[in-house]
Amino acid sequence: MALRTILKYPDKRLRVPGKPVASVEPALGALLDDMAETMYAAPGVGLAATQIGLALRVFVLDLQQNDEAERATGLQVFINPEILERRGEVVWEEGCLSFPGIHEDIHRDGWIRARALDRSGQPFEVEAEGLYAVAIQHEIDHLDGVLLVDRVSLLKRRFIHRKMLKWHQAAQHRESHEEPEPPGRPAL
Ligand SMILES: [Zn+2]
Repeated sequence: MALRTILKYPDKRLRVPGKPVASVEPALGALLDDMAETMYAAPGVGLAATQIGLALRVFVLDLQQNDEAERATGLQVFINPEILERRGEVVWEEGCLSFPGIHEDIHRDGWIRARALDRSGQPFEVEAEGLYAVAIQHEIDHLDGVLLVDRVSLLKRRFIHRKMLKWHQAAQHRESHEEPEPPGRPAL
């Protein structure tokens, strides 16, 4: 297993939509292990393949460590995820591993039913609400090349853009490029 580098906004690779996985081969397992390890190390509760520069429709999720999750999911792998049904609305203060230190209120569907393939290629369905629903929608956005900045006002978008440029400047002077996310604020 190996830690992968999480791309940070405005890296253009974050805008490349993921391609559907044609068939779930055993080789995908190594990538999924790397993604899980990278997510836990950040630490984060979700990570999409597009965040490590791989244009594939795959993400990992683990809400177990988070108090805000209505139910603990353990590690889950979503391959070729689709939202089948959506209801209601929720506003959640979201963080994103590609936007260190940024947290913004984002409007999402409050309840969803989603379908995906698991790591052995078997289809499964979930019904999700709260942070679970938010996380799935956030990760599917990543697979479409859609980012947190696309879901806030123009004013906030400019503010976040400037803040991220400063983050990259400061990162050049830091010994380590990575900076742990503050505890208790789930990043996706
Ligand atoms: Zn994210």
